[in-house]
Formats: sequence, structure tokens, C-alpha cells
Amino acid sequence: MRKIEHIGIAVKNLKEANETYAKLFGAEAYKEEGVESEGVLTSFFQVGPNKIELLEGTHPDSPISKFIAKRGEGIHHIAFDVEDIESEIKRLEGEGFTLLNKEAKAGADNKLVAFLHPKSSHGVLVELCQERR
Ligand code: ZN
Repeated sequence: MRKIEHIGIAVKNLKEANETYAKLFGAEAYKEEGVESEGVLTSFFQVGPNKIELLEGTHPDSPISKFIAKRGEGIHHIAFDVEDIESEIKRLEGEGFTLLNKEAKAGADNKLVAFLHPKSSHGVLVELCQERR
């Protein structure tokens, strides 16, 4: 893994959260994008070298809506940039981690993504993230 790619924050209302975070960072989101397969709307902010992703669930069964129902708004996942997501998935399975998806899938912001179950990483939902080439 090369670096933290972004931190994902679950929000109830993306429009309101965009306004709050635009004030916080002094800059607007550079991108808004829906990921239909995940039932989420996302926005991305650039903060110096770092990125923050805001996520709103688009229906009650969305993982984000379920997360908020259970735990409230807040930090949802930490995403790590990887060179080769397929080999990282295999490596981490070999190390005993539970993957939520065993094959990389399309994520927001032109990425291939996979998630580790939080129970295998001490309560943190870890996203692997590879730039699509
Ligand atoms: Zn993410």
C-alpha cells in the first residue's frame, strides 16, 4: 500500500454536508458522482495532498444509510492507494483478512475498489483503491 488515498465520511444530506465542508476547507468539492451499484452519492474535496469523500445513501438499504442508522454520521472508511488491487486482494486473503468483495469493482473517482470487513481490521472499514488504467 502506498498512501492513504482518501477518508470517507458518511453524511445524511450530501448537499448540506458539501456546504459545511466547503466552509471548513475554504474550497468547493471538485467532483460529485453517484455510484448506483452501491446506492451512494459522493463528493470529493481536495485538501492539500489529501482527499476527503463524502457519501450519502440513496436508499434505506444502501450500506451508507445502514451505517448512519446504526452509528450516526461520521468517518466511514479509510481508503488506501494500491498499485495492483488484484494482487493486494490475494495477499490480504492470504494474511487472513476477510474481504467484502473478492473481486475489484468499479468505485467513484475512476477507481477499482475492494473492502476489508471491519472485523478483520479492528473496527475500521478499509478500502483498497487502484486508479483505473
Ligand atoms: Zn471511498
